[in-house]
Amino acid sequence: MGKEFTKCNRCGGIMIYEKIYYKTEHFWVWKCVYCGEYIDQVILDNRQIQKSNREKSAKNNEEPKYRSYLDTPSV
Ligand SMILES: [Zn+2]
Repeated sequence: MGKEFTKCNRCGGIMIYEKIYYKTEHFWVWKCVYCGEYIDQVILDNRQIQKSNREKSAKNNEEPKYRSYLDTPSV
């Protein structure tokens, strides 16, 4: 869920994955179909890293609770 498209942070519109050409290279970018705003993969990767770091630390806080449950023998 939520992996097929992303939302434009400028107008909230749907963004499509599009190939753009720059000089001799080409890039895949997320481009808004409404306002033309685009996010390139580098920005997206940076955002993903920040997000996963945050999720990781949140998980670490929760883990000990679950661990103690699992480690307690119920039989
Ligand atoms: Zn937009």
